[in-house]
Amino acid sequence: MLILNESKQMSGNSLSLRPGINANGARLSDCQDCTQMTDDWIDDIIKGFKPSENGVSLDFTSLDQSLLDALNLSGDILSLFDNDERYAVKIKVGQTQLDRNGNPVNAQTGRASSGTMSVITFNPDYLNRATDLAIARTAIHELVHAYLQYIIQHVPNSELGTTLDSLIFQHNFWLIPGEPQHVLMAEQFVSAIALSLSNSDGFQHAAIEYQRLTWSGGMRESATYEQIPQGERNAIIARDQIESGDPRNTLPVSPLGTKSC
Ligand SMILES: [Zn+2]
Repeated sequence: MLILNESKQMSGNSLSLRPGINANGARLSDCQDCTQMTDDWIDDIIKGFKPSENGVSLDFTSLDQSLLDALNLSGDILSLFDNDERYAVKIKVGQTQLDRNGNPVNAQTGRASSGTMSVITFNPDYLNRATDLAIARTAIHELVHAYLQYIIQHVPNSELGTTLDSLIFQHNFWLIPGEPQHVLMAEQFVSAIALSLSNSDGFQHAAIEYQRLTWSGGMRESATYEQIPQGERNAIIARDQIESGDPRNTLPVSPLGTKSC
């Protein structure tokens, strides 16, 4: 699979995204436009998965083994995904869709009409306010979406494809809450994504913090999330708001991640 980092080209258009201005129109006084840093950010995250000569390829084999196990990335499926140069993932910075509260989502992964490409879009405001830890979390989350899109398109009869199909069916008949890919992530990938995140962060912090960060956005609309005790759910939301630089956060708690701009 190819990773095409379009953020450099997109940066040329970022003036129209009002760099240095957050969603509320407030100027980020001590922060230059972090989307200009995003080229390096995203490059680093991707290179963390697999150092490569040209920096454009992504090899899922260097993700944490538990994530590979959860994704069932083994044997022919892995080699198909990794070597299938007909399928690509593009990464760019741009406006994202709104959530149910009318706020732009941090990032989204769409599929090109050709069916041979997933496009990950990071919201520029999110990149401006989030820590490296939050952005790495989001990158891993979106790459899992890209992989699931690939599975739906190219390996629908695999175990993962069949499970996803069943979830889509149940979702269409209002039998389960939450969007199917997020339900699948909540049911099967939490520990694996958390381990991949801690791996990319050098295991600097307690395992529970990486696990909390894994519960992003849509995953919190699943029945699995509802089973988590209220106190822990509060801790999940607080950690997410702190690392995401969410203006709604009022807790006097320091982020674990850092901002490089
Ligand atoms: Zn998602």
